[in-house]
Amino acid sequence: MTQSTAAPAGRFHTGRLSEGRPQALEAWRVTTDDADVAARIAGLLGGEPRPNEGTGSTGLAYEVLTSRESVRILLDGPDAVAAHMVLWGSVGLIHHCDGVEFLSPEEKKGRPCGCPPLLEDRKLAARAMRGPTPSVDITFQIAAAPELGAFHFMTASWQMAAQLSDLTEALERVNGPAVCDLTIELVVYTSKAGRGVCYRKPVVTVLGSLDTIAPEPPPVAEPVPAPAPSAPRRKARLAPEPTTPPVPESRRSVSVGVDADLLRSAAQVLGTGDHQETVTAALSEILAGRQQTPELAQLREHVGRIAAIAGQALQGQESSLT
Ligand SMILES: [Zn+2]
Repeated sequence: MTQSTAAPAGRFHTGRLSEGRPQALEAWRVTTDDADVAARIAGLLGGEPRPNEGTGSTGLAYEVLTSRESVRILLDGPDAVAAHMVLWGSVGLIHHCDGVEFLSPEEKKGRPCGCPPLLEDRKLAARAMRGPTPSVDITFQIAAAPELGAFHFMTASWQMAAQLSDLTEALERVNGPAVCDLTIELVVYTSKAGRGVCYRKPVVTVLGSLDTIAPEPPPVAEPVPAPAPSAPRRKARLAPEPTTPPVPESRRSVSVGVDADLLRSAAQVLGTGDHQETVTAALSEILAGRQQTPELAQLREHVGRIAAIAGQALQGQESSLT
């Protein structure tokens, strides 16, 4: 692909400057110099194009505060993710490495840089301004509108840095452009000291190749406003039957490939056995659940996808019957 040489269409951000102070966002913010791109982004992902006042003087002309915390994107192999470690000082770049060896300046390139091997130790060094922080640049297209061109997401997130080797491996496994979800994920936990901690982190989830994954995720299943007792039974019919022979070959490989994975992770969270039990338990939990743990939010998304897959499978059944 030629996307790396073309001028980028825009950038994705997890935050903005508000009156000079950094502000973390719950949904993606997109900036671009192109008014048409801004309008398309607003159409696709929600929000309104407006003059970019959230990046400071160096920002692109327009910003769109979208309503999406997750956007389906295309990553063209492991080269779409560039990562290095940087420490800036008053005189400029003073440590530039890949965590093991210097990447610059030329005379130091390839020599051991002295960064500790463990991420935790690197974090401590960075916090003390003794060591570099991650600098990750992800180049991607929006799966539903690849014609808009390449976007960048740049982050210094340690959580993203920690995902990188898994991400690169997953991208290598997909032959060709990979369909991924780029998500601002909410993390909620209680610290050892008993304090509630809540923050958001960017996450890239590799879903598969272009011919097996839809460019747009199915709508997230909202809690059904039906009376709770009847709901699980009603929705349980959506459970994909493990034995649905009349589904066309191509469609079958899609549903099996995706739902096995989703059901496995749902089953892990819920501790359930067969697929039907998992879907039923997930739905009951969501309908009954008042608490908004990240696991539940994730589960809700999974169940949304499972329902969509089941819907597809049922459609396939119907069309093969008529
Ligand atoms: Zn280093």
